[in-house]
Amino acid sequence: MTGPKRDIVLVGGGHAHVHVLTALAKDPAPGVRVTLVTRDAATPYSGMLPGVIAGLYTTAQAHIDLVRLASATGTRLVLGEAIGLDRAARAILLDGQPPVSYDIASIDVGIAPSLRPIAGAAEHAIAVKPIGSFLDKFDRLLERCRNPDGPRRIAVIGGGAGGVELLLSVQSRLPRELRAAGLDPVALSFALVTDGDILIGHNERVRATFRRILAKRGIALHEHRRVAAVTETAIALQDGSAVPADAVLVTTDAAAPHWFRGTGLALDPGGFLAVGPTLQVTNDPDVFAAGDCAGMIETPRPKAGVYAVRAGPPLAANLRRRVLGEAVRPWRPQRSHLALISTGERYAVASRGAFKMEGAWLWRLKDWIDRRWVGAYQR
Ligand SMILES: Cc1cc2nc3c(=O)[nH]c(=O)nc-3n(C[C@H](O)[C@H](O)[C@H](O)COP(=O)(O)OP(=O)(O)OC[C@H]3O[C@@H](n4cnc5c(N)ncnc54)[C@H](O)[C@@H]3O)c2cc1C
Repeated sequence: MTGPKRDIVLVGGGHAHVHVLTALAKDPAPGVRVTLVTRDAATPYSGMLPGVIAGLYTTAQAHIDLVRLASATGTRLVLGEAIGLDRAARAILLDGQPPVSYDIASIDVGIAPSLRPIAGAAEHAIAVKPIGSFLDKFDRLLERCRNPDGPRRIAVIGGGAGGVELLLSVQSRLPRELRAAGLDPVALSFALVTDGDILIGHNERVRATFRRILAKRGIALHEHRRVAAVTETAIALQDGSAVPADAVLVTTDAAAPHWFRGTGLALDPGGFLAVGPTLQVTNDPDVFAAGDCAGMIETPRPKAGVYAVRAGPPLAANLRRRVLGEAVRPWRPQRSHLALISTGERYAVASRGAFKMEGAWLWRLKDWIDRRWVGAYQR
């Protein structure tokens, strides 16, 4: 029996790569072996994460089991953390394990936490990004809150959709948790701090809706406030005022994985892998990248799970073409998409361009879309 002729190695089991696994299994390239290198055995689906925090989904419902998916798709699985890429040797370097050789590599590893730009945040705040490690941190926070002397004043820094959804989800969950622990939730307070308007990139009606919802839920909103530092008991603002807080969650900055710098691969100004419309890194046609870890040079888009999801089909098709020696094709991600932003309850607000709509039925639509997507990879 002859061994595989060509190796496609997928690094990271992010939103784009789960699709690649299933697409390459459905339509296998002859003589090609597909390998997934992943640090974690399960990967979370970002769209359902606020629902897990709100207690609407179990952790398992919002995760894709990569071990099972690899097995179901006939993919070779290497559980390990990539720490580099040796382009001369065509090998992915792993932490404490032998390297994995590739003919074609694809990278979908998301982002790295970055609390350093905010003074005191590394000591006193919790990084929400990347989402994979956040749920454990949130469980530890819940544990502390169930203590009679635990944190009661909860604040989020970052007014994007992630931050707003996250805080609404926490606000919906914590009172229930305290009551279940026999504690009075009355001392709980919630605040959102952001340096501009909330929900930049969405229309004014969506912003007004969330301002209304936040106010109705008793959440203090501090817009156009720059954070100077985080301390044990407060968020200090640059205008000299302070927002009292015992627990601070940061959803703002995220950095590129630091190991990208040593690979010699082209990077964008943020240090993310610079890719062209074919999803190939601009200085290496045998290395592809997608999702948050990639910077699309010609068609820049926000770092959101929806773009990582959308990159899955064109990435799978181009990996297949490249490994078979065919011409790869450009992909142009949609400029805007329908965002369904949940409120931590079974209610959501739809936003696209100047369009806005809200209602419980939009949450049911989001629930259906999210379950259908994640269900396709939960083998
Ligand atoms: C609270 C919150 C809510 C959000 N909600 C939404 C939403 O509703 N809609 C939306 O579009 N976006 C949302 N986002 C953004 C979304 O989380 C990201 O854009 C999305 O997860 C990016 O997907 P990805 O495939 O690039 O990476 P990820 O989903 O981060 O996956 C990367 C994978 O790579 C693995 N990995 C990482 N490093 C290595 C390594 N060195 N070696 C091997 N494996 C590695 C990880 O284990 C992980 O499985 C939200 C973000 C936050 C913080």
